[in-house]
Amino acid sequence: MSDLRDLYQEVILDHYKRPRNFGTLVTANREAEGFNPLCGDQITIYLQMEGDVVQDIRFQGSGCAISTASASLMTEVLKGKTLEEAQALFEKFHGLLTGTSEQDGGPEFGKLAVLSGVREFPVRVKCATLAWHTLQAALKNTRQPISTE
Ligand code: ZN
Repeated sequence: MSDLRDLYQEVILDHYKRPRNFGTLVTANREAEGFNPLCGDQITIYLQMEGDVVQDIRFQGSGCAISTASASLMTEVLKGKTLEEAQALFEKFHGLLTGTSEQDGGPEFGKLAVLSGVREFPVRVKCATLAWHTLQAALKNTRQPISTE
């Protein structure tokens, strides 16, 4: 189990140092900003939706390793997903972090499992879910920045 934990740490650090899909998206038709005042994490999500499919997704911002890695992993997992699939992933991910569900979401969800260790640190759960809450705001095209507080 500690080997698995080391592997998870490595993946998180890798995504923190080299975030995937980082930057603005000129073709975005949705965007939203999110803040986590507890930690100082700040993020903007850019989405290009076609119908109900996530055609492309990028993010920008600055935050701790957990919030950045979580956003990076989220963009990798969501590309090409439908709204319904995205919602299902968010619910599983949230369940994983709050300990209400175990990992059983298949290979796509497996990537997100690297963040499961966060559940031992409740204050960091908000870091890990910031990108996902911001995504929800982007999907609703919320103009007001959202906050985890
Ligand atoms: Zn944070």
